[in-house]
Amino acid sequence: MISRRTMSWLLGVSVLAIGALALARPAAGQAPSQPPLTMHRIAGNLFLVKGGSGANTAFYITKNEVFAIDAKMSVESAKEMQEAVRRLTIIPVTTVILTHSDGDHINGLPGFRKGLSLIAHERCKADMVEAAKSMPALADYLPNATYNESRLHLYNDDDGEIELAYFGPAHTSGDTVVVFPREKAAFVGDLVFVGRDPVIHRSKGGRSDGCIRTLEALLEIKPPLEIFLSGHADPAGRAEIEAAVASLEALRSKIKALVDAGKTLADVKKAFGIEEAPAPPGGRRYMGPVETIYLEFTEKK
Ligand SMILES: [Zn+2]
Repeated sequence: MISRRTMSWLLGVSVLAIGALALARPAAGQAPSQPPLTMHRIAGNLFLVKGGSGANTAFYITKNEVFAIDAKMSVESAKEMQEAVRRLTIIPVTTVILTHSDGDHINGLPGFRKGLSLIAHERCKADMVEAAKSMPALADYLPNATYNESRLHLYNDDDGEIELAYFGPAHTSGDTVVVFPREKAAFVGDLVFVGRDPVIHRSKGGRSDGCIRTLEALLEIKPPLEIFLSGHADPAGRAEIEAAVASLEALRSKIKALVDAGKTLADVKKAFGIEEAPAPPGGRRYMGPVETIYLEFTEKK
């Protein structure tokens, strides 16, 4: 008799051969502009989910465990992506790893069953405790395992390996990089933006110098990584990471030169052609990277 474990693995293998699979139509109530959810096999055990609400997510499917990386922005999308995983394995999601605390990565958590293992950096958990004050449903989904080391070996078995890495404040103060050494890949949350300005949450302790340090650290990981999955871009390679470092460094030097020349924030914004956008009703004003970097260069140490 085939054991449940073997059975699930066989089921997994047979479907893993499918590269990308389009999923069900958007559920009733979903905004029509929302792209359909799709799941893509990246390499080995690693799958990327695009579309639906919120940021891209990933799944790492082993013989006995299913790791979700990030949780989407709505319960509907969180459930829809788990449905997609059920077509690949009968093992339910056992662990959710959260790359950071932004709503487009965590607000779908109540779409997962309660009581599973939820892991994040301890500073991400602190931000989530704050977020739960205005979103009570999150209170049942706060991380029940945290870490504060620079590296944590989360899973290592004959069929897969996951490491968590923390390189200090960058996009927020508690960003986790999820490394899959055997797939030579990482899921980096919002630490990498391709072809657009980075988002740095100063209000959550994010820093531009930390973003550069983190991107450089990604390139130093051994064995060298080749695939970088992220919340808001297509899979990137080392060249895109190098380009992101160069572009952020260039932005910082340009702003530093203006600060050294005694320019005010208004002058600097003008130099970049930035028009002040009002805050959305009830929301916080978006602070772009130019203002964030200006404040970093001018803050009292
Ligand atoms: Zn984010």
